Amino acid sequence: GKGAAMVTAVAYRLAAQHAERQRILDTLRFSHEQLLEVKERMSVEMLRGLSKQTHEEASIKMLPTYVRSTPDGSEHGDFLALDLGGSNFRVLLVQVQGGKRHVNMHHKIYCIPQEIMQGTGEELFDHIVYCIADFLEYMGMRGASLPLGFTFSFPCHQTKLNQGILLNWTKGFKASGCEGQDVIMLLKDAVCRRKEFELNFVAVVNDTVGTMMTCAYEDPRCEVGLIVGTGTNACYMEEVQNVELAGGDDGRMCVNMEWGAFGDNGELDDFCTRFDHTVDDYSSNPGKQRYEKMISGMYLGEIVRNVLMHFTAKGLLFRGKLSERLNTRGIFETKFLSQIESDRLAMRQVRSILQHLGLTSSTCDDSLLVKEVCSVVSRRAAQLCGAGLAAVVEKIRENRNLQQLYITVGVDGTLYKTHPHFSRIMQETLRDLAPQCHVTFHKSEDGSGKGAALITAVACRVKKEEQH
Ligand code: BGC
Ligand code: MG
Repeated sequence: GKGAAMVTAVAYRLAAQHAERQRILDTLRFSHEQLLEVKERMSVEMLRGLSKQTHEEASIKMLPTYVRSTPDGSEHGDFLALDLGGSNFRVLLVQVQGGKRHVNMHHKIYCIPQEIMQGTGEELFDHIVYCIADFLEYMGMRGASLPLGFTFSFPCHQTKLNQGILLNWTKGFKASGCEGQDVIMLLKDAVCRRKEFELNFVAVVNDTVGTMMTCAYEDPRCEVGLIVGTGTNACYMEEVQNVELAGGDDGRMCVNMEWGAFGDNGELDDFCTRFDHTVDDYSSNPGKQRYEKMISGMYLGEIVRNVLMHFTAKGLLFRGKLSERLNTRGIFETKFLSQIESDRLAMRQVRSILQHLGLTSSTCDDSLLVKEVCSVVSRRAAQLCGAGLAAVVEKIRENRNLQQLYITVGVDGTLYKTHPHFSRIMQETLRDLAPQCHVTFHKSEDGSGKGAALITAVACRVKKEEQH
């Protein structure tokens, strides 16, 4: 009768809604073939970035780092390190003890206020030097002039270890007057303005490189560095003869890939969704770092939020009511994604996180759907990252003419470390796309800052050896 017809109508509507949600989520899902395609395009761009002829137009810059030797364990001494470019700014004192492969570290975390991140370069570097002064004071080391390594986690063109010309800011940094400048000079000028102490600048280092070095200190098989945090990037040991920008023909040099910029020439266009376009449009660097914007912690929450808004606008979520909260950029921090996706969480707890986010109108079905959106978005990120890594380890394997490659990757970054599924999915993808490579992952603690100090220590050791 009438009742049965109504039930059928409701069931029909629910099924149609379900299909529509899945159709939208499918745009965020990758097939094996598509991931293989991503890996292959990455391989092509790597070659284009390395070659002098195509470097200019290549999206991945494959930057020489002038880091050739890994620590041999004989390094020793006290070093200062600065770590700028992630979720916080740190100043470190690293005491390297020769022979024991052990370091002592002291550090202090400083925040870089938004106004300073986006103010003038002078303000930014004055603030950094103020923090160094505060740290030296705090450590009772005023006036000490130690060798310093600067972990600066942005793309830099280097012609030597202690020079780095900032190509462009990423990850929401915007301080004016820095792009095209040598960051060591900017820092030196700020030290001069303060007239309080002198510093001995030895190295500027990308965080991926610092992470790889820290890991290599314990495991000589570590020849790749990976960051999946606020931003994403990788570095690896390449044959010097392939690093055309640096010149030279023997041994290996670490290359800072700057893989976050993959896609900036359209290589990912056919995989991008409307959500990726929106996140890109509203970012501080539209059109740039397209691969990073599909992978790293600074953007995943925004992708999720945009999907949820779209669902809501179509009446598929939150009873079609768009709350002001959901309309607010940046509400989904990485930590919420990690929490929502945790398997130990009951739906009730997911709901309370949503309530905490101000999404109070949510029902149990809503919570389920939000969790599904989070997992689709983070799975895609992990798979894309795995596809990129597959290109990297395959390149190393081919460079060395090996049937099987055994290698370790040093990894850091909050998303990688706190997300309940990211690392597993990334590794599954990697195994799938690079079956001849056997990759061990080594999580690094404090890798980037410590690594800058180790690179500084190696450079000081090599210099001494040359003088003798
Ligand atoms: C930067 C890289 C850095 C990565 C991870 C990216 O936005 O361009 O230099 O290694 O973030 O911090
Ligand atoms: Mg960091």
